[in-house]
Amino acid sequence: MTTALITHPACLEHDTGPYHPENSERLRAVLAALEAEEFSMLLREKAPLATIDQLARVHPRAYVEAILAIQPELGQPIQLDSDTVMSAGSAEAAARAAGGAVKAVDAVMNGWARSAFAAVRPPGHHAEPSRPMGFCLFNNAAVAALHARVHWGVERVAVVDFDVHHGNGTQTMFESDPNLFYASSHQSPCYPGTGAPSERGTSGNVINVPLHPRDGGPAFRAAWSKTILPLLEAFRPRLLIISAGFDAHVADPLAQLRLETADFAWITEQLVALADRHCDGRVVSVLEGGYDLDSLAASAAVHVRGLMRA
Ligand SMILES: [Zn+2]
Repeated sequence: MTTALITHPACLEHDTGPYHPENSERLRAVLAALEAEEFSMLLREKAPLATIDQLARVHPRAYVEAILAIQPELGQPIQLDSDTVMSAGSAEAAARAAGGAVKAVDAVMNGWARSAFAAVRPPGHHAEPSRPMGFCLFNNAAVAALHARVHWGVERVAVVDFDVHHGNGTQTMFESDPNLFYASSHQSPCYPGTGAPSERGTSGNVINVPLHPRDGGPAFRAAWSKTILPLLEAFRPRLLIISAGFDAHVADPLAQLRLETADFAWITEQLVALADRHCDGRVVSVLEGGYDLDSLAASAAVHVRGLMRA
């Protein structure tokens, strides 16, 4: 079956400055890895701009319009918080990052592809409804989930997040809706500080499994196979969306988990198998973090290889 790769050159124009870990070299590394011969079968499409209506399903319209209106002069970036920056190209990049996630949903829902990977930036899972945060402007995975529900009528949508950081924004947007499910494994203590096991959503539709600094593949695999996957199975999603961050890799400079590239292949395989059982195979993946270029590229490659086996 076919896998779509959705990206856009505008995502490289979100310029965070010379020393920022979330820089365009990340996306270049991922896309270079996906140029290998084994990926020649990917259906490649450009990410459209998300519409204001699509973004306003998870963010207040005033927030969407305010972010899109921030158009700094070339070379005069604006600091939104201590680590979230907007440059001249950021508004378009953010709209295309969310639009790429929407397009990935369209690809699997209209049957054009069975799975889809949105290789986009800025990332999204820290973006709160009314607050940019942690390198994130719009919550790409949440925008995709609500698009699936509103436009395609998908009854139950799950976002699963194996980024090393907790997806506080996605949790906030999902926690009071019983037809949305959010699950995360993440390092604790670590940024942003949320994601305790006691945070379960109003209907048990949120599941958080914190891992300790220096935990590696065995602890990660146990968290997913013993806790998250059984609850996800019980939720019976009709569409699975992955917040695919690769910063839990041992080589990543931003956190202290010790996953190997093979662990990302393993989790992808588990999630694809679950999507086969519940979602007619439909799985959408959206790039989040990952800050060591070599391990990011290698991990994204095994992830996409796993999606192509769907
Ligand atoms: Zn992260």
